[in-house]
This record gives sequence, C-alpha cells and structure tokens, in this order.
Amino acid sequence: ELADIGVMGLAVMGANLARNAARKGFGVAVYNRHGGRTDELIENYGTEGRFFPSKQVADFVASIARPRPIIIMVKAGKPVDEVIEELIPHLDEGDIIIDGGNSLFTDTNRRFHYLTEKKLRFIGMGVSGGEEGALEGPSMMPGGTREAYARIEPIVTRMAAQVDGEPCCTYIGTEGSGHFVKMVHNGIEYADMQLITEAYDLFKTVYGLDAGTISKIFADWNTGELNSYLIEITAAVLAKVDDTGKPLVDSIVDEAEQKGTGRWTAQSALDLGIPLTSITEAVFARALSARRSARAEAEKLLPHPAVATLPIGQAEIDAIRDALYASKIVAYAQGFEQLTVASQQYGWDLKLDELATIWRGGCIIRARFLNRIREAYKSGGGAANLILEDYFRDAVLKAEPAWRKVVALAVEKGIPVPAFASSLAYYDGLRRARGPANLLQGLRDYFGAHTYARLDKSGKFHTRWSQDGAEVQVSQ
Ligand code: NDP
Repeated sequence: ELADIGVMGLAVMGANLARNAARKGFGVAVYNRHGGRTDELIENYGTEGRFFPSKQVADFVASIARPRPIIIMVKAGKPVDEVIEELIPHLDEGDIIIDGGNSLFTDTNRRFHYLTEKKLRFIGMGVSGGEEGALEGPSMMPGGTREAYARIEPIVTRMAAQVDGEPCCTYIGTEGSGHFVKMVHNGIEYADMQLITEAYDLFKTVYGLDAGTISKIFADWNTGELNSYLIEITAAVLAKVDDTGKPLVDSIVDEAEQKGTGRWTAQSALDLGIPLTSITEAVFARALSARRSARAEAEKLLPHPAVATLPIGQAEIDAIRDALYASKIVAYAQGFEQLTVASQQYGWDLKLDELATIWRGGCIIRARFLNRIREAYKSGGGAANLILEDYFRDAVLKAEPAWRKVVALAVEKGIPVPAFASSLAYYDGLRRARGPANLLQGLRDYFGAHTYARLDKSGKFHTRWSQDGAEVQVSQ
C-alpha cells in the first residue's frame, strides 16, 4: 500500500497539513529532517488517519504513489533549495514537488524552471490560514502547470476550506504566480491589520475608551459589512483579561514584527509602478513601531500635546467605521490592481474573481466583503479599479465625509493614522483629472531637460530655462 501524498517538514504548518490530509482519508507519507518531530506527530495524532512515517528521504519517497505529489513545508529561503536537492536523486519523471511555504515568487519562478529542465514538476503553493487553517482547511493558491495541478486537485480541494460548497483552492497560473498571489494576500492582511490598529488608537487615545469597550464596538462591527475574521479576532484580543485582571492588550509591547511578505509586496509594487500606498504604509508603520527605544527617546524631546479625551456617541463610532471601511476598499483596490498588472506583465492570466472566491474562507483576510469583489470581477471581468465598480463607488462616496473628518481629527490631535490618511490621499488623487504634476514636469525639464507634454499642442517640448528661455519642440 502506498501513500497518496507526502509531506516533508513537520513543524506546525507541515504537521497540521499532514493531519488535515489524513483526516480527509488520504494516505500521507511524512518525513522531517530531525526524526523527533515525525515520532511526535505519529505518537500524538497517528490514529487520525493513515500515516506512512519515514526516517530516510529514500524510504519517504518510495512510500508515495507515482507520480508522487510531495508537499514541502520547511523554512522559506535556502532550506527549500536544500530540501529540493535532497529529493531530486530519489524522484522519477513527472513527480511533483509542491512548496507550501511562504517563498518569494521569484525564487519559485527559478525553481519551477530548474525542475522543469529535470523533467520534474514544481508547484509553488501559497497556503494561508495559519496553524488552525492548515489543520481545519486553509485557503490554497497553487501555481505551476495546469496538468501538474490536475494531479493534486482531488487532494488539495478536499484539504482546503469550503465556502458555500466551493473549495478555497483553485489553479492560479504558471511559474511563481501562486506565491505571488499569496504575497499580495499577506500585503492586504498587513493593511487590514494596520487599519484596525488605527481605529483602536482613535478610540483609545482620542475618546479614552478602555479595551473592553472597544472590543464591544468591534464585535458589533463584525455583524455588518465589515464582517471578517480579523475584525472578529480583534474583538477577542481586546476582550482578553490576563491573570492580573487587566486587559491583556494593555500589557503587550507595542513593537510589531514582520517576516517579510508585506515588504515583498511593497517592493513588487515599486517594481511594477503600482501606487500601493495602504499596504506600504502598513509595512512602514510596523518598522516605526519596532524602534521602541528611539520613540521613547523622541517623546522626551518632542513631548506630545496632551489629548483631552472627547465624548463619544454612535455618530463618532460610525465615523471611524466608515473611515475604516473606505480605507479598506482602497487597500483591496490597490492590491487587486497589483495583481492585474503583474498578471499582464508576467503573462499569468490570473482570474481575479477566482482569487476573491478562494479568499472567502480559510485565510486570514476572509471576509464577507470578498463576495463583492468576486461579483465585480465576474460581471465584466475588467474592473480597471475596484473603487469605480458600483458597489464600492457607492460605499466610498457614502463614507467620504466621515472618512475626511476622522483623518482631520487624528491630524489635529497628533495621532498617526498613516493607512487611513494615505488611503484618503490616494482616493483624492485618483478622482482628479488634473493634479499638480505639471509643475513637477516643469522642474524636471528645468534641471534635467527631461521634456514635457502640453495640453494645447501635441509633441514633447523643452524650455531652454537658463539660456534664452525659448521653448523648443523635441519630438512629435
Ligand atoms: P518553520 O518556518 O519554523 O520551519 C521549520 C521546519 O523547516 C522544520 O520542519 C525544520 O526541520 C525545517 N527545516 C528548516 N531548515 C531545513 C533544512 N535546511 N533542511 C530540512 N528541513 C529544514 O515552520 P512553519 O511550520 O512555521 O512554516 C513552514 C512554512 O510555512 C514557512 O515557509 C512559513 O513561512 C509558511 N507559513 C507559515 C504559517 C504560520 O502561520 N506559521 C502560515 C502560512 C505559511 P527541523 O525540525 O529538522 O529543524
């Protein structure tokens, strides 16, 4: 008897994916570099299904039915290449290595072509949902060839979360597209979380609410259009009281860590020329939060004006909700624009409605809202910018007055709201046919003879600024 699939790398994610597959009735071969983890898995969960444990890579590979699908779930980066090299000598033509870790998509592109040359198949599969998702059903974003996907489809679509009878897993595209999509998913997650912390900061600092009260506001928001996993767990985190009897959140150090996917998303946006302001501000906000001692030092030298807390009623709560919702729409619109441009640039033919579909369950950004995005891309498939689609346009227009007031209040009180404010700046910049870049072009022409176009004539022009001041036409 042979296993249906193999899982290599049995830390929290790998072990949970292996258990997930076993619980769904698949035979699962398992291997980990240090065999202790393999023993632990079998000892604690061996009865959950049919496991095929091995202590040698050769035995592990031999225990899987051909063509062999092998999920590798090891630390992203060099370990992935090392594990691939370990596997290669034992594999047969057509076997499929599936990298389920958070690999950088350019690494996945490279590995895809490398393994194709060796007549092996490679799938870079983004997996979202954290520990619990991996076990109960994550959102999965597999990229590679369609026929390699067809081999694993019956297994991964069973392992994935299901929403309204549809699996949160679909074929994404070729090369590193699956990991690219997962990367943007994580970027959006950064923006979503930053927006939540900004709303929290306003409630806490401007209105003087305690964590328990703020928790109730988020719980209430979770029953409306903001309904999502992140809003739900925000209410839970804020409600948690520790052993001292005080809200846990008040004792957590205000220093955010990051593993890199948000930074990669921002870097990719710069490469592609996408104004991905919300996600990028979220990355920068984490970076600034991490400079805790520098902030403490600066606060002494640049004392913050005391904020006299304001009274709060339903109108103020609703205003912050509107600001959060409108900013969230901007963040998603920017993320989806990045996906659109990447798809064209890299020739991936991404199906944006399907991405919204598989993000509705299993993953960290799962939300009711994604149904709206799915509909927007399904209708014509060609939403140039999500903000311009009926549902989202109505939502931002409705939220706009409150959004503006909330940002103005934050600025006045000296409370940083980089994601709220940059989303609003993007919105204001987007819905403006004529901005101030005419002056910018004038400056560029002045110091660098970079030329400019004119509204009243076609062609490219240059003014001899420091010579005779005359304008010359440099091209048609
Ligand atoms: P870690 O990222 O902590 O990686 C630990 C695993 O990698 C162990 O099994 C370890 O083996 C193995 N490993 C490390 N280096 C090597 C090597 N050179 N050769 C062989 N094996 C090696 O594990 P996680 O389970 O947290 O994550 C796995 C992947 O999933 C990562 O890419 C992560 O980014 C991604 N991911 C994680 C999520 C999460 O919530 N944690 C969510 C979604 C994706 P050993 O036991 O022998 O040291």
